[in-house]
Amino acid sequence: MKTIVSLILLFFVASSQPDKKAPSITSDEVKAMVNYLASDELQGRKTGDEGIDKAATYIENQFRSYGVKPYFETYRDEFKIDSINAFNVVGFIEGTDAKLKDEVIILGAHYDHIGYGSAAKSKTSGGRLTETDSIANGANDNAAGTAAVLAMAKYFATNKNNKRSIIFALFTAEEMGLLGSTHLAERLKSEALNLYTMVNFEMVGVPLKDKKYQAFVTGYDLSNMATKMNEYLNETNYLGASEIAIKYQLFKRSDNYPFYAIFKAPCQSISSCDLSNFDYYHHADDEPSELDYEFMASFINKVTLAIEAMSNTKTKEIVMYEH
Ligand SMILES: [Zn+2]
Repeated sequence: MKTIVSLILLFFVASSQPDKKAPSITSDEVKAMVNYLASDELQGRKTGDEGIDKAATYIENQFRSYGVKPYFETYRDEFKIDSINAFNVVGFIEGTDAKLKDEVIILGAHYDHIGYGSAAKSKTSGGRLTETDSIANGANDNAAGTAAVLAMAKYFATNKNNKRSIIFALFTAEEMGLLGSTHLAERLKSEALNLYTMVNFEMVGVPLKDKKYQAFVTGYDLSNMATKMNEYLNETNYLGASEIAIKYQLFKRSDNYPFYAIFKAPCQSISSCDLSNFDYYHHADDEPSELDYEFMASFINKVTLAIEAMSNTKTKEIVMYEH
């Protein structure tokens, strides 16, 4: 009798929860995105080339299919680099809370890469020839981060459970010196955007080896971002600090940095690659076949939960430490 009562009670409690879906991007979905973005057809997505135009069109089509709106008049945030036409791709999901929606979280990743790599050539992996061309496909750097941002765009567009607004920004010309992110940060600053945080995804295609954390946050000591995100996940060390990131000042070397420099808000990159766990940085062999899609899907679903929590707190809990 007691069991039946408990069961009924459990059923009642369970069914009275709001209809909430946990983030559930699959490894196949992530793989499909990376397979296209890092395909030979896109020729290494160099800013100014035809391949990056195709990548931008793909991102636009994904946004459209999810119901993500353009942040500006169109998805493309266009600017010139000398005579080159360059464009970030920027989507938007408005927050659900009348007040909090004025506070904005930017989720970003660069979608450009370097075009052709110097290192051509063939290698064998398990007896098979894996690469014979010199296209730098940029699967880990940074089709992986791009896929992470697209997956989150899909999640929030489907669930509409973010009180704060979210901008999804895919940057061009990172490889030319953070030019796309610098352009967008300046443009948004000139429009007086109320930026809460900027979270950038850089090389999240392979798991770290022999680390206590699953990914690291650059500029770990500058804010409580990692601590707060771990807290939102009920984890002690899902996101950690990396000695490599500190040594090479990775905080200043990706698209989070222009946002930090211009807004002085918590703007940081999350990565699972400290170069000790990936041999093909800026190499023709940074191919889709080298990534771990089970890891990627699990990482993306986890971080999405932390972003969801970040978008819904009553106050701006993530802050820069004073120095
Ligand atoms: Zn990169």
